[in-house]
Amino acid sequence: MNATRASLGIVPLVALLGLAAVQAERTFKWKVHDMSRPAPAVVDPGTAGSTAPADAIILFAASNPDLSKWTGNGSDAKWKVNGNEVVVEPGSGDIKTKEAFGDVQLHIEWMIPADRKVEGQHGGNSGVFFYDRYEIQVLSSNGNVTYVDGMAGSLYGQYPPLVNACRPQGQWNVYDIVFRGPVFKDGKLAQPAYATVFLNGVLVQDNAEILGATAHGARAQYSPHEATGPIRLQDHGDPIHFRNAWARKLAPRAAAE
Ligand code: MG
Repeated sequence: MNATRASLGIVPLVALLGLAAVQAERTFKWKVHDMSRPAPAVVDPGTAGSTAPADAIILFAASNPDLSKWTGNGSDAKWKVNGNEVVVEPGSGDIKTKEAFGDVQLHIEWMIPADRKVEGQHGGNSGVFFYDRYEIQVLSSNGNVTYVDGMAGSLYGQYPPLVNACRPQGQWNVYDIVFRGPVFKDGKLAQPAYATVFLNGVLVQDNAEILGATAHGARAQYSPHEATGPIRLQDHGDPIHFRNAWARKLAPRAAAE
């Protein structure tokens, strides 16, 4: 008994000493609180509310209420533009950004019409896809029961949202998403994609590891693809409204230096 306790006590001590040794060997480019360390870029965040920060690419907003940044499947995007809102035209197909994105921060607002009858996955469904293939679900999820890995805020078919922060139909929901793309080397996955998602300011995906391209009723798998890809909005047959979409291209994650 005593020997066991003693050995259990020694293990963490050895581990700590090992860690200290590792840290002591590490060198950094910058001193702590180094005044010569380059300052981050200044970005005007816009006024409180739903305006975009100054370095964002506006995908659609009151300032450019059109679909000029989007394309349909091999043709013009055919969704409706209604004031500052873009509305899914059921049956016209998904729309994609003309611009390709890698690591990205996306802000987009969406609303399921109040009078829309919804049941499970039907009636109030759309989605935001990164790289044309990894879906963050858009769904009427306030009082609507469905499988949890298909709720609003889910990574469809992979992870339920951490909580259900979806507003009632007729009210606007706000997505703020950080999507880090996967890395492929020699035709194989070297690093998976990760997504962090806030729904209405509430964390619903916490740097979740993406398991592969979104699939319905099947386990997701990766297939190698380019380092960038379009953002796609889904036409699932329902007239979902979107507004205030903007994206910021992200530099690679900061490494300690
Ligand atoms: Mg969907």
